[in-house]
Amino acid sequence: MTQNRVIVIGAGNAALCAAISAHEQGADVTVIEKASYEERGGNTFFTGGGFRYPYDDLSDIQQLIPDLSAEEIKKIDVGTYPRKSMSDDLLRVSEGLADEQMVVTLVDNAFDTVKWMRNYASVRWVLMYGRQAYEVNGILKFWGGMITEAVGGGEGLSDSLFRATERLGINVEYGSKMTKLLTHSTGAISGIEIKNQDGFKVMDCESVVLAAGGFQANVEMRTRYLGAGWEFAKVRGSRHNTGEVIRSALDIGAQPHGHWSSAHAVAWDLNAPPTGNRRIGDLYQKHSYPLGVIVNTNGERFVDEGADMRNYTYAKYGREILKQPYGTAFQLFDQQTVHRLRDEYRIKEVSKAEANSIEELATDLGINPYQLKLTIDEFNAACQGGDYDPAVRDNVATQGISPPKSNWALPLNEPPYVGFAVTCGITFTFGGLRSIANTGQVLDTEDIPIPGLYAAGELLGGLFYHNYAGGTGLMAGSVFGRIAGASAAKLSAA
Ligand SMILES: Cc1cc2nc3c(=O)[nH]c(=O)nc-3n(C[C@H](O)[C@H](O)[C@H](O)COP(=O)(O)OP(=O)(O)OC[C@H]3O[C@@H](n4cnc5c(N)ncnc54)[C@H](O)[C@@H]3O)c2cc1C
Repeated sequence: MTQNRVIVIGAGNAALCAAISAHEQGADVTVIEKASYEERGGNTFFTGGGFRYPYDDLSDIQQLIPDLSAEEIKKIDVGTYPRKSMSDDLLRVSEGLADEQMVVTLVDNAFDTVKWMRNYASVRWVLMYGRQAYEVNGILKFWGGMITEAVGGGEGLSDSLFRATERLGINVEYGSKMTKLLTHSTGAISGIEIKNQDGFKVMDCESVVLAAGGFQANVEMRTRYLGAGWEFAKVRGSRHNTGEVIRSALDIGAQPHGHWSSAHAVAWDLNAPPTGNRRIGDLYQKHSYPLGVIVNTNGERFVDEGADMRNYTYAKYGREILKQPYGTAFQLFDQQTVHRLRDEYRIKEVSKAEANSIEELATDLGINPYQLKLTIDEFNAACQGGDYDPAVRDNVATQGISPPKSNWALPLNEPPYVGFAVTCGITFTFGGLRSIANTGQVLDTEDIPIPGLYAAGELLGGLFYHNYAGGTGLMAGSVFGRIAGASAAKLSAA
């Protein structure tokens, strides 16, 4: 057996952070990736590259982006995002269920980890001007606890991490699928079985970091765990996250953890392909609904579009869309807000209609025109007015309708009206394995660590229940990947 060898399964953000971290601790690291070189990067490649971490003020952001000019600084307000706010957000959106140790470890390590990614893996950061800031009185006000992204988004993040692995001499074996975890008679990890173009092969090692994503791209598992109807969801990202690595771990006694019947799912273009398109990336998403109203084909509203800042509602509204007739919904805007729509509304590949009346818009989109007119008239009459500010929860709300619109409730009365057809796009699943938060060791069903087995990223359960706070997936992948990689290296060296 190679001395001090760590095998990392997957080559997304969590896996590459684990690989880089294990290398930093002196391990000989091999990465096993199911996809080909051309399809590398996992879900991470498809992301917007947005990270959530706590920060005190602009000086923290300047540690990540030292080249902000004086001119830029004058025009921005990044606010503050204290540790307590991040913990509170993670607990609030999970209805108090998020694993406390995971939350503490994540919040404590997040800022240090984004700095480590900058310094050790050359990931560069930039403020999310287009997506997480609104101009209010001439100042760009950032909001939502996620204000920076990796330069180049998910593709840029993935490229930077791969460049770092190449620079460090970490070997990545593409086209290699992990099929089994192998153990000694003691129960400790002895290696893995993989399948590549030459067939099955056994690789020996003392420690393995599993970071192979969730099971959202496996229609059978999706339907088994999430329920009937989930066959029809579109997969936003990689087609390779099919859950066999989670299953292999369960097969050797690993403990399941988290919300197995739930997933992160968003509004996604109705005509998007069944799995992610690498050229379009995340642009099939349609995240500006707090600026308008959402209806189904019957012309009825079914969610509170203004329940909270977008980052805290988008991941649960895909599920609500899937429940509607034909799993379809429509986001409607008028000229008061259309200029504020995010970049993804302006791509060529968009299912859109524009019309001078509500009935005409309904007919063009395939919505019941009679009911839609009633719904919009009722909605407009319920708008109470007030001090509209899209960068904060402004309490500009409706009264007397159900569901309400609790913030940003402007009447839809300035034609031309614009509508976008969406369906449910699943991002990743919430059920996964249980690990010790500050070591990354996977626990068995009796709460005993399985010697040599570590995990990180989307295949860990426990952090997300019911809902999700934007930018947490990548941040958690980096924090827990870095921890798992370091622990695995120390075990191998022992
Ligand atoms: C469109 C989109 C936009 C998103 N935007 C954001 C965002 O801005 N911010 C954020 O925090 N999160 C975002 N997310 C969520 C984000 O994808 C995840 O949080 C993060 O990328 C997951 O990283 P990961 O390393 O766990 O998994 P992945 O990046 O998916 O990596 C898993 C890897 O494992 C490989 N693999 C699977 N099975 C095997 C096997 N049997 N053997 C070997 N390899 C295997 C896969 O091919 C893949 O490369 C977004 C997701 C999508 C789809």
